[in-house]
Amino acid sequence: AAKRHGKGRVHRFTPDLLAADDDATLAAELRVALAEGQLEVLYQPIVATADGRCTAVEALVRWRHPERGLLSPATFLGVAEARGLIVPVGAHVLARACTDVASWYDAGHPVAVHVNASAAQLSAPGAVADVIRNLVEHGLAADRLVIEVTESSALDTPAVRAALQELDALGVRIAIDDFGTGYAALTALRELPVDVVKIDKSFVTGAATSVADEAVVYAIVEMAHRLGLETVAEGVETPEQEHFAGAVGATSVQGYLHGRPMTAADLTAWLAARSPV
Ligand code: C2E
Ligand code: CA
Ligand code: CA
Ligand code: CA
Repeated sequence: AAKRHGKGRVHRFTPDLLAADDDATLAAELRVALAEGQLEVLYQPIVATADGRCTAVEALVRWRHPERGLLSPATFLGVAEARGLIVPVGAHVLARACTDVASWYDAGHPVAVHVNASAAQLSAPGAVADVIRNLVEHGLAADRLVIEVTESSALDTPAVRAALQELDALGVRIAIDDFGTGYAALTALRELPVDVVKIDKSFVTGAATSVADEAVVYAIVEMAHRLGLETVAEGVETPEQEHFAGAVGATSVQGYLHGRPMTAADLTAWLAARSPV
């Protein structure tokens, strides 16, 4: 990709040219990945603090790249957003998640499934229709699905807010992800049909050592409780963090302590081992 400019200019421009090249390559490969089924969905348990039951799972996308191995969303979602591929990626994840949650339901594990959605996905034409189609196709009650949005993306445009209102009216639940990390957390609570608040990992981790973080977690749970919302403490890695989450009254915890994101087959086994049917 290095272009033959004068000396010195090469240095200034090469990184950008390379980056642009890489993005184009990645986008082309991602189109192939979509067509050839290289995108996988892993699931991470969300566990109730009251009784330790797994009430829900979060769907997290991965790309099983033929040469580069298993890629995390951080490596390709940015390119997907920039190159107009986030809608097909999101559609794939939603369809997979609905299929899998229906099979867990049939196996006697009535978990809900959380699916992440960006502003671009929610504002795409047909986004709500796609959700309805998947729910109907798999015979799922709308409240089995939780759409996770970040406060900034959810407040992005009137189209996003309209989609969230429509989903809420259908009975689909809405979760605010990474709550507290943006600048619009309180506005999001006021303006969106929120059902679940996911307390960002940074506060949960910090609560053990930082009085400020501890106070933030307390305040979020207290506020959510007053508003009748559920709370999920994210990134719970230790029994101490889980205990803290329970003590402040968080509804559920999610994190490596209970389970890393795993394949649908592994989650099926995980569910069966915890609650034999
Ligand atoms: P997120 O929605 O905040 O998801 C939680 C992330 O934290 C996941 O990373 C998960 O693997 C990780 N995590 C869970 N528990 C722990 C823990 O105890 N400790 C630590 N250190 N990390 C933990 P992952 O799977 O790499 O996903 C990263 C982000 O990519 C997600 O953050 C979400 O914003 C985005 N993402 C993932 N799947 C999708 C998708 O299907 N669509 C969209 N639009 N975004 C997605
Ligand atoms: Ca999420
Ligand atoms: Ca709602
Ligand atoms: Ca999160």
